[in-house]
Amino acid sequence: MKILFMGMPGVGKGTYAQIMKEELGIPHISSGDLLRDVAKQDSDLGKTVAGIMKQGKLVSDDIMLEIIKQRIQQPDCEKGFILDGYPRTAEQAKMLNSLVEITHVLHFKADDEVIIDRLGGRLVCKGCKSIFHKTGNKPKVEWKCDHCSTELHTREDDKPHVVKQRLELDAEKSKPLLDHYNGEGLLVEIVINKPIHDIKDKVVKRIKDYVEGKSDSIGEIE
Ligand code: AMP
Repeated sequence: MKILFMGMPGVGKGTYAQIMKEELGIPHISSGDLLRDVAKQDSDLGKTVAGIMKQGKLVSDDIMLEIIKQRIQQPDCEKGFILDGYPRTAEQAKMLNSLVEITHVLHFKADDEVIIDRLGGRLVCKGCKSIFHKTGNKPKVEWKCDHCSTELHTREDDKPHVVKQRLELDAEKSKPLLDHYNGEGLLVEIVINKPIHDIKDKVVKRIKDYVEGKSDSIGEIE
């Protein structure tokens, strides 16, 4: 089970990756988390990665491949893994191909309005970066972080008009990558428009059935 989770922020892939890692007994490898760890290291590589991330740019394909290679060679990946955030380009997908044979690619989708609502309601702690939501996962005290009491804010790029632009840009950027995996016959869509507490069990079952070979598609989950 060497699985890729793809889809833009706000679509729920990170949340479901956390759940599926327990259900399937394989690690969830987030490229962003891996890089944040590397960036903390007091080494040349650490400093390079920290600099790139601060500017919001992409880390080079060669560095990415090396970091991912080291991670998936760890013993906990023997049964497989869920990779999230990598590959991000068709070039990275080709490089990954030379390293390991991916078995399933799940493309998480939601309607634009749902993503705009999820991201628009997102509240981020200015201190520890914990995430809350105006209507869903509310903080105990309004505009205050439950963990460190620092003020919460709405990210500039989560405002509705910016989210719309991000959606368009993401569709354009991810197309070559999706085409690549579609061409390999590995791509399947999973559409999640409902809140997690309404459909979590169904989502888990459908993903499990798919990656265990009991079904050959997923589609919209209602
Ligand atoms: P994320 O947490 O996925 O938003 O990633 C945070 C940052 O890590 C991104 O803005 C990039 O600088 C870097 N990053 C994560 N994944 C990749 C990747 N596959 N290729 C290049 N850079 C990446």
